Amino acid sequence: MYSSLKPILQSELKKIQESGLHKEERILTSRQGRIIEVRRKRVLNFCANNYLGLAGSDQMVRAAVAALKKYGFGLSSVRFICGTQDIHKKLEKKTAEFVRMDDAILYSSCMSANIGFFGSFLTEEDAILSDALNHASIIDGIRMCKAERYIFQHMDMADLEKGLKETQGKRVRCVVTDGVFSMDGDIAPLKEICDLAEKYDALVVVDDSHATGFMGAHGRGTHEHCGVLKKVDVITSTYGKALTGAGGGFIAGHKEIVEILRERSRTYLFSNSLPPVVAATALFAIQYIEKHPKLQTRLWENTCYFREKMKEAGFKVPESVHPIVPVMIGDAKKAKDMAQKLLKEGIYVIAFSYPVVPEGKARIRVQISSAHNRTDLDKVVKAFVKERH
Ligand SMILES: *Cc1c(COP(=O)(O)O)cnc(C)c1O
Repeated sequence: MYSSLKPILQSELKKIQESGLHKEERILTSRQGRIIEVRRKRVLNFCANNYLGLAGSDQMVRAAVAALKKYGFGLSSVRFICGTQDIHKKLEKKTAEFVRMDDAILYSSCMSANIGFFGSFLTEEDAILSDALNHASIIDGIRMCKAERYIFQHMDMADLEKGLKETQGKRVRCVVTDGVFSMDGDIAPLKEICDLAEKYDALVVVDDSHATGFMGAHGRGTHEHCGVLKKVDVITSTYGKALTGAGGGFIAGHKEIVEILRERSRTYLFSNSLPPVVAATALFAIQYIEKHPKLQTRLWENTCYFREKMKEAGFKVPESVHPIVPVMIGDAKKAKDMAQKLLKEGIYVIAFSYPVVPEGKARIRVQISSAHNRTDLDKVVKAFVKERH
């Protein structure tokens, strides 16, 4: 029965290999952390979304073990049948409070949150205005609903305004953006977006996956960083990055929005409850972050230090303050070779090239964590300088 599909897939796979697009998965034989073991070799890790160093940390493991013992491993149910434990409600409450929203609802991932969001209440009477570089999960989420789409040029407020004018006849307009864009570490102009949304009466939805837990004075996210805490209507985000790194996602927002999602959101209704151990440890992580502001301070110090040192060494690093630091190389092969050489020097970083980023804009994306120390950062800068040519 497989005879018709097999040659098609073989040919597709061959094309992927030949065009250099194959995604190799390196196998770790250690926990996630500052240092990881790859092929029996210990290397400094500079490519995880482990911004606060919580993934793999002993504190999280201890919290997880305690939660496992109390709540068990799995629930074998969706939330509305028999899959809601007190820990799920506690995490929702704490998450909402942390990002300063009325309420929050859990999903198995942020991907699943975004897929289940738009179609739950937007229809062909409405319009969605989406940044051209938004995450794949937002793009797919928008596809799941019948609202009109307007894709505005990346962070282009004139284009967004044009879209808001064009869609003025619609019942509801919804502007959606990543809070932080993962390829450049650039931060959405939420102040300007909220001003426009106010002027044209539009909803503002921010996917804050690369920000929740550490952006803004208290780590609430990009909306705190940009000074628009009360203006953003909805935050979608993940616990799979700064907040433990294990997985799980959420949507936080106005009371009625969260209520309608509980009634209608298909990826919430028809998918299993978040494993209690994941929910309990995410809750612990938020409390831990609140009690240890030093984690955030160290992340900013590390990020500033690394950005400065790389600029001093003559590398091209786009302006931002985010711990995603793209070191622009340009040529795809050069970037790939350089990442290979850095790995040999004991530094794990990843090169990104076309089609993930625009052609001729290949880069090595370095991600800083509060788990790193000065010696680690100096070592990376030194290795970059050594392998420059
Ligand atoms: C990582 C990421 C996601 C996916 O989060 P998961 O919880 O792993 O599904 C969604 N949106 C953005 C912007 C991300 O960076």
